[in-house]
Amino acid sequence: MISEEIHLITSSLPDGVRLVAVSKYHPSEAIREAFAAGQRLFGESHAQELQRKHQELADLATPSAEATSPLQWHFIGHLQTNKVKYIAPYVSLIHSVDSPRLLAEVDKQAQKAGRVVSCLLQLHVAQEETKFGFTPDEARAYLESGEWQALQHIQLAGVMAMATNTSDTSRIRRDFHSARLFFEEAQRTFFPPIGPDHSSPFSELSMGMSDDWHIAVDEGSTLIRIGTRIFGERQY
Ligand SMILES: *Cc1c(COP(=O)(O)O)cnc(C)c1O
Repeated sequence: MISEEIHLITSSLPDGVRLVAVSKYHPSEAIREAFAAGQRLFGESHAQELQRKHQELADLATPSAEATSPLQWHFIGHLQTNKVKYIAPYVSLIHSVDSPRLLAEVDKQAQKAGRVVSCLLQLHVAQEETKFGFTPDEARAYLESGEWQALQHIQLAGVMAMATNTSDTSRIRRDFHSARLFFEEAQRTFFPPIGPDHSSPFSELSMGMSDDWHIAVDEGSTLIRIGTRIFGERQY
């Protein structure tokens, strides 16, 4: 059951770690069920599918008397630049920014929508060749370039990573660990914590899926992205 799985996962999360329920390929009704169980963050990985669900579920995304906090959409999949315009008006976090060009396009579309959109840099730490993302060296070079500082309508809010798709848990742990090291280095160097509460705008480390989220939480994840464990096998 969707609500039981959500309660099982969230009740075991340490403070400061949030669950993103990955609802891709599941119908809007399943999202309503999760929302009724208290879930608020939902992750989708196709712009048009998200666009359709955003319309179908518009009532949940508007603050109301009964639902004090509204549904928030996170985008977690590979995003083509020509699709950014569909999601920029309402998405609350894009986990999967994998190029300077994409970041510039998000800035442009967020400006059109009169918003600031939070973005994570997707880091490539896994062994597979095909995954999208910046290598730690590329991400470091991009941050050093300072180009992003001219973008007024995006907020760099942290790092996202996926581990190698393997049953070798020590390999998974190493991948998450290298993402964490880069995250901490980038925060220290470019977004040092400020103010009385000592907070940094660069504060999210998105890692962990259905099969590896325990390891990810151990390695310092602040956002876990779980689909199958909550909703079952994808439906279409
Ligand atoms: C689909 C997806 C997930 C969720 O995967 P599950 O194994 O179903 O939990 C997490 N992150 C990304 C980027 C995804 O595309």
